[in-house]
Amino acid sequence: MSESADVVVVGGGILGCSVALHLATAMPTARIVVLDRGPIAGATSGRCMGHLMVTPDTKEEYAFSHTSIRMWAELQEEIGGFDYNPTGALYLADEPEDLELLPILQKQFADCGDKADILDQKQLRDMEPGLAHDLPGALFYEGDGVVLPMTSCSAMLRLGQRRNPKLEVRPGTEVTGFDGVGSRITAVRTKNGVIKTENAVIACGVWSPAVGKLAGIPALPIVPRAGNLAITAHHATPILRQLLEVSYIRFAHGAAKVDPWKTDEDKGGHAVNMQPQSAGGCLIGSTRQFRGFDTTLNRELLHRSLLRAQRYAPGLADLPIVRTWVGLRPYSVDKHPFVGPWPQTDGLWICSGHEGLGISLSMISGHLIAAQMTKTQCEVDPTSWLPRRIL
Ligand SMILES: Cc1cc2nc3c(=O)[nH]c(=O)nc-3n(C[C@H](O)[C@H](O)[C@H](O)COP(=O)(O)OP(=O)(O)OC[C@H]3O[C@@H](n4cnc5c(N)ncnc54)[C@H](O)[C@@H]3O)c2cc1C
Repeated sequence: MSESADVVVVGGGILGCSVALHLATAMPTARIVVLDRGPIAGATSGRCMGHLMVTPDTKEEYAFSHTSIRMWAELQEEIGGFDYNPTGALYLADEPEDLELLPILQKQFADCGDKADILDQKQLRDMEPGLAHDLPGALFYEGDGVVLPMTSCSAMLRLGQRRNPKLEVRPGTEVTGFDGVGSRITAVRTKNGVIKTENAVIACGVWSPAVGKLAGIPALPIVPRAGNLAITAHHATPILRQLLEVSYIRFAHGAAKVDPWKTDEDKGGHAVNMQPQSAGGCLIGSTRQFRGFDTTLNRELLHRSLLRAQRYAPGLADLPIVRTWVGLRPYSVDKHPFVGPWPQTDGLWICSGHEGLGISLSMISGHLIAAQMTKTQCEVDPTSWLPRRIL
């Protein structure tokens, strides 16, 4: 005998957990089931950094990211338990051409009605005594922060269950198909049985194209983009705030300079991103490389990025690295995530493709799915993220 649910969320990463939280809030008596073939936060959301980042690249991106980071602060007030640390972010400059980027970034924040401050050498040293003393300057933006993504997933689900006791979470449940494809979703098929439903949300990160295919979506343009990370021993971080090279913005958020489908051609690149952890370690990234689903460590690339991090924070040279690993960012080929209904099948939804900003943008993304499903007001205009654009 099959069971039924009002909504099935496929994927228990940060996006699936945020969708579940916002659906539970908007529909406090509905039966919502979250399925993951592995553990909750067992994939990219458990193998990443936790920079909550406001991006002023365009006014639209600013609206999405700023609203999302505000929602993160509300999540902290409401439930906490995920090492939320509103450190702000320091954009560091080393070379003269990097220094030139600081006022450009400052103006981008100003054009969005926000504020960031340029620091000279002394002000930077006063703020972050562990940084190299010859660094020429930086830009400080107060609105960013750091979280621990894994415990963020559980906090979202805990709060969701508090708001809707019928929210159910099932790790170890692989989705194998959908019924009603092409007209209206009628059921989600899993290895453990069938769940009848009129709404299914695909939030499967780099596996969304494969799960999308099961649901009749021909080719969702999301490609894995690998990132190598390292973390130092506890109680040793030489930095106090979220730090990143100002060139990171162009490296990470600009269009990829290589064809993301030609996985053997990308040599990869890096820009420094360093985060203090609540237990006192320093998390160091961040490399980017298209090489399919390969998660073996690229030692050479990681080594280069660690040397670069040491240039900024020389104290890192004396610290043991206790763990290294690789995570796969879900890179959307047009640089926008897919958040909204799939227009060719009623009741089929997508929430995926957030590349290196999935933690930051998870709260607004979950809200947009819930608001569209319940036909209530969206906090920001969802148009540019709608999946219909690929048809
Ligand atoms: C190195 C690195 C650093 C990063 N740093 C940051 C940062 O500082 N700030 C930031 O905002 N973002 C950052 N990101 C990006 C962020 O981690 C991702 O965008 C985000 O975690 C993606 O979440 P997701 O829920 O889409 O995917 P995932 O976390 O991968 O979740 C997808 C889930 O779907 C499940 N699934 C797949 N197929 C099936 C199936 N058939 N049935 C059931 N379940 C299935 C998987 O098991 C998985 O758990 C970083 C990423 C990396 C790799």
